[in-house]
Amino acid sequence: MSASSQPAGAGGASFGDNDLADPEHDVTASYALDPASVRALTRRVVSTTGREIPAYTPITGQPLAMVPQSGEDDVEEAFARARRAQKAWAQTPIRERAAMLLRLHDLVLDRQDEIIDLICWESGKARKHAFDEPLHIALTARYYGRTGVQHLAPKRVRGVVPGLTQAEVTRVPKGVVGIIAPWNYPFTMALCDGIPALLAGNAVVIKPDAQTMLSALLGAQLLEEAGLPEGLWNVVAGPGRELGTPIIDRSDYVCFTGSTPTGRIIARQCAERLIGCSLELGGKNPMLVLRDADLDRAAEGAVRAVFSNAGQLCVAIERLYVADQVYDRFRDKLVERTKAMTLRAGLQWGSDMGSLISQDQLDTVVAHVDDAVAKGAKVLVGGKARPDLGPYYYEPTVLEGVSPDMTCFGTETFGPVVALHRFHDEADAIARANEGEYGLNASIYSRDTRRAREIGRQVKCGTVNVNEAFAATFASIEAPMGGMRQSGMGRRQGAEGLLRYTETQSLAVQRVLRFAPQFGMNDKTYAQVMTANLRLLRKAGRA
Ligand code: NAD
Repeated sequence: MSASSQPAGAGGASFGDNDLADPEHDVTASYALDPASVRALTRRVVSTTGREIPAYTPITGQPLAMVPQSGEDDVEEAFARARRAQKAWAQTPIRERAAMLLRLHDLVLDRQDEIIDLICWESGKARKHAFDEPLHIALTARYYGRTGVQHLAPKRVRGVVPGLTQAEVTRVPKGVVGIIAPWNYPFTMALCDGIPALLAGNAVVIKPDAQTMLSALLGAQLLEEAGLPEGLWNVVAGPGRELGTPIIDRSDYVCFTGSTPTGRIIARQCAERLIGCSLELGGKNPMLVLRDADLDRAAEGAVRAVFSNAGQLCVAIERLYVADQVYDRFRDKLVERTKAMTLRAGLQWGSDMGSLISQDQLDTVVAHVDDAVAKGAKVLVGGKARPDLGPYYYEPTVLEGVSPDMTCFGTETFGPVVALHRFHDEADAIARANEGEYGLNASIYSRDTRRAREIGRQVKCGTVNVNEAFAATFASIEAPMGGMRQSGMGRRQGAEGLLRYTETQSLAVQRVLRFAPQFGMNDKTYAQVMTANLRLLRKAGRA
């Protein structure tokens, strides 16, 4: 049946099966969750409250472990430990700090099965999407481990008087960095921003999201095993609304990843204290399929871009703009590929999409799709929750006919839902890609990569991927990553992702000449000599 002839709401039944009943894929069997391993993780939370809350797995909705909770006193204690440890760490040679990161790289690759199991348990994502997390951390640790000295060593700069003014710029760590992280990539988001903070000589106090504490605590354990000295990485647990302010009040810099509304709150609090912050926020990311695109490649990329981690990915594509001339062919290929996806619960390879994280996420996805359908959008594939697979499963969904009056037109869904739109000319496509308040990621498919580059430069997004969904920029750790407009401030990755955690100190040694009249000169003669010097330096082509 061609996609266009399919009735709204059809297509869901074609997705894979539920492995819960299959003894070979027993979702309750995982060594990562034996009580001793769990205790080894949860004891890392700085907590004296005596309070614990359960961590649940979205795979079945069952509790996984009890996680101790932190209070304001614990935040205070975490910062005290961090400040004590940071003094010695800042004096540790950059090479030694970098060597710790390279050991972390090796550990993460060696222990990836354990890491991936835990991520799958806590987030419910498909194993192939969980694999992206140790991969990203290995890439990040290697990049910063290899480039630490290059970025951080003091640099000679040109002094005002060549030869007589010796100027250099030193990078000084901020001190203690507060990190507030989300749940969607629980291992990556717990480590990727802290790695450069540590390299720069800072200590970290981190508050991961309450839904995914265990993956974040495994990150802390691996840092310790890689040789990070005690006190430099401190984990607190609790609701952001309670612990956010105590953390910001004590931080020298704040790194936040999460939603745009929370980002605004964090920015206001940091401004009040005159401390810096970086904010990695939401998106409503567009993909453009130009008329000369390789349509198979574009459809494959679109499926990854839309459904990775069930769409709970900040750089996921939620708006697809396709050239008129190829719209029908592309739509059919996309629908066909989407229908062929396998949905399974469990930890095994072979599932193309896992669960959403929670009832809240499921409610948002259901509300967005139901609203669109009620206002006239057509479901080409998907469009249904799948309680037979697990409590928060929702089918990969492609919508057509989404209009500005529908919530999902411009509001981030953060779920496995994409709206297909036609465009008539490229200027129109660029204008529509730039609609709305966000500017995180864009993707462009075209055989003419020069043209795609030109279009990319006109799209107001922090990352643009040509003939790729999102991974080309995200995995190129030397390239900064972050959002324009309401998608954020500051960048992770690259030099910017490291230098945000430092202050510069400029130090200049002045020899012979003073910046005042000498040798019996008066002020006027001094001004004339300096003016002549400036003219000479300009002619000589010096600074
Ligand atoms: P969220 O803003 O609700 O929560 C993120 C973190 O902030 C959590 O740790 C939470 O406990 C904490 N928090 C909540 N309220 C707080 C407050 N008042 N003060 C301090 N901390 C507070 O975000 P979410 O909905 O859980 O995460 C999904 C959002 O994150 C999406 O919008 C997604 O696009 C975005 N995200 C962005 C990136 C990126 O790199 N740009 C990456 C991942 C997720």
